[in-house]
Amino acid sequence: MLPTVKLKPREHHRLVEGHLWVFRNEIQSTSASELAELVRVCSSDAKEIGVGFYHPMSQIAVRLLGTNQDTIGEEFFVQRFERALRHRTLTLPTAEAYRVVFGEADLLSGLIVDRFADTLVLQMHAAGMDVRSNEIVRALLTVMPEVTGIVERNTMSTRVKEGLPLRDGVLWGKVNNTISFTEGSVRLEIDVVGGQKTGYFLDQRVNRLWIAQHAKGRTVLDCFCNVGGFALHAGMGGATEVLGIDSSELAIESARRHAVLNELPQVNFEKANVFDVLRQHAEVGRTWDVVILDPPSFAKNRSALVGARAGYAELNRIALKLLGSGGLLVSASCTQLVAEHELLDIVYREAARLRKTLRLIHRGNQSPDHPVLLAMPETQYLKFLVFEVY
Ligand code: SAH
Repeated sequence: MLPTVKLKPREHHRLVEGHLWVFRNEIQSTSASELAELVRVCSSDAKEIGVGFYHPMSQIAVRLLGTNQDTIGEEFFVQRFERALRHRTLTLPTAEAYRVVFGEADLLSGLIVDRFADTLVLQMHAAGMDVRSNEIVRALLTVMPEVTGIVERNTMSTRVKEGLPLRDGVLWGKVNNTISFTEGSVRLEIDVVGGQKTGYFLDQRVNRLWIAQHAKGRTVLDCFCNVGGFALHAGMGGATEVLGIDSSELAIESARRHAVLNELPQVNFEKANVFDVLRQHAEVGRTWDVVILDPPSFAKNRSALVGARAGYAELNRIALKLLGSGGLLVSASCTQLVAEHELLDIVYREAARLRKTLRLIHRGNQSPDHPVLLAMPETQYLKFLVFEVY
């Protein structure tokens, strides 16, 4: 019999509707004590809610995995991974790099699996997944026998809250220093294992393909370009001149290698602070046909929201100054706490202050390998808005 976590009265509603986290302050009593042990969760009137992994210290006390009928073991992971993979092969049939498992949205709270060609990159955000890494590796190999290597990249700060060590390295098989794959018609080479690790932001895939289709004959400024994603797609799509900006030396070196690899001499990169570059271009009256803004998250929690909104306002304001009539402002945000309507409103107000008339011509979000679990708004985070200056 599994240890039981009994909820306080009325705290079960959100979970019954499909949310997967039990917060510590929602618990009435529990016989669980061990880190990462499997527990059964029930309401205050003893109705079964499901089973999940327990954490004695974390604010997220239980991460629900399934129902009481589920036996949580290797076979359970095999079934979940099959289901996850089926969705990716249906929605992104030609992709060589994609997110195989997107944590909660694949009903596997705390586990991320990215695929780059035949290499898998794992992140365990929760202790329950961390202690089961052997089972997880075996189940992944059952579902994807063609995989040649599996690495863990468990260096994210969220692990500290779970009391987990920061760690990375090869978990299974052989992993090359650089892994080659294509996205659309762009070739990329990233390092997921060596000291020079780069990685790749898979969530923007469909949006980068959109840029490739709309770049022809245009000049493009790709702000926060990382290893060159949007810039390279713009170049491939026929942009006449592209400049990518990122503050990371490592990212810029990789982006420059990608421009050479893809034979795109019109695509250049500069290591700099985006805010400085935008201001300099505005001062000298330099204009662009397309300005892409894909900044890192500006707020991880509510206390940082005011600053985040101000950050988006400033960034979009200076970017708008570089755009003339017919120009495109591409404004992305991965801050989960800033909703799409808020970003729209911020951009609208900045445009109005500058007396520019904007039309929203496209809205995108995270790629389909990052599905949104409706019961968990936490899984919806990426906004991608394209405005045309009238
Ligand atoms: N557009 C990229 C992903 C961007 S991730 C893609 O499609 O793959 C955000 C990037 O912003 C990171 O590479 C980070 O190094 C960079 N960054 C963060 N703050 C910055 C700043 N002030 N100026 C320039 N780059 C910055």
